Amino acid sequence: MERETNSGPFRSRFRKPRRTTMNRLVRCIHCDEVFCRTPFDRDPEYAPQPSFPPVPSPVIERDDFGDFLRNHDGHRLEELTIIQDSFVSEKDYVEPVKASYFKATNGRESFVIKKFRKAIADPLTYQLIHGDYRLECISLEIQSEAIAKQLRYEFKSIPLAASKVEAFLRLYRRVAQGMDVERLERVSEESSNPLQVYFIMDEVSLMFLLRNCRNIFEGQQYNEIEAFIQRQREDGVLLLKANYRLEIIEKARAKSRTLPVGTALKIEKAKENI
Ligand SMILES: [Zn+2]
Repeated sequence: MERETNSGPFRSRFRKPRRTTMNRLVRCIHCDEVFCRTPFDRDPEYAPQPSFPPVPSPVIERDDFGDFLRNHDGHRLEELTIIQDSFVSEKDYVEPVKASYFKATNGRESFVIKKFRKAIADPLTYQLIHGDYRLECISLEIQSEAIAKQLRYEFKSIPLAASKVEAFLRLYRRVAQGMDVERLERVSEESSNPLQVYFIMDEVSLMFLLRNCRNIFEGQQYNEIEAFIQRQREDGVLLLKANYRLEIIEKARAKSRTLPVGTALKIEKAKENI
C-alpha cells in the first residue's frame, strides 16, 4: 500500500473538507467582529413552552445575519476566505464543547478565527485573532502498554519472560528518543485527538532496533521478535505517538480604527519589515 508522503504533521488531518468550507465569513473591519454565514443562519427557532395539555411551540423568526448587519450599520465589511486544511482543535473531535481554530484571509492579511461554544446549548461564537498559530511537538512516545499486551498475545505458546518484555520496551524507548519527528512518515489513519498524531519509525531506527534486539533475544526467539517488529511497524503497536501543543501567537493590531484602511495596511507592512 502506498502511503502519503509527509509534509507536516497535520496535512492529512486538515485536508478533509469540513462543513465549514461551505460557510462564508464576514468581518466588520471597524469592530473586528466576524459573522459566519451558514445555510442555517435564518432557520426559525422553536421555543418550547411548558404547558398542559401540550400545545405546539411558537416559532420565533431568526435572522442572525440581519442582526449582524444592523449592529454594524455604516461600518466597512469584508468577506474572508477560510483557508482550507487549517482546522485544529485542542480536544477530541467528538467533544462538542471545545475551541477550534482555523485561518482565514482577506487576500492581504490572514487571521486566526477561534470557534467555540461555552455550553452545549449555546450557539457557536467566532472570534477574530490578529496573528497566527503554531503546532509544537512536545513528546514522541512509544505505546508501551499496547506493545506489552501484543507481545504477550503473540508469544503465547512460548511466553517471553517479563524481563525480556521490559528490556524490549526500554530499548524501543531509547530508539524513539533518537528519532526526529519532522523526518518521520505519519500514518494516514485518523487519531481521535487532533493534537495526537501517529508516525512510523524510520529505516535507520528500525535497523538500530533490530541490531540491538540481538542483545536481548537469541535464536528462534530473535527470529520471532524480528517478524513481530516487521508486522507491527507500519500499522500496529510499534507506531509512535507524537503529542502536539497548539500555540496562538497574537500580534498587536495597528490602530486602523482611526485611520483609513490603506494607512493601516502600510503600518502593518512596515512592522513586518522590521
Ligand atoms: Zn462594526
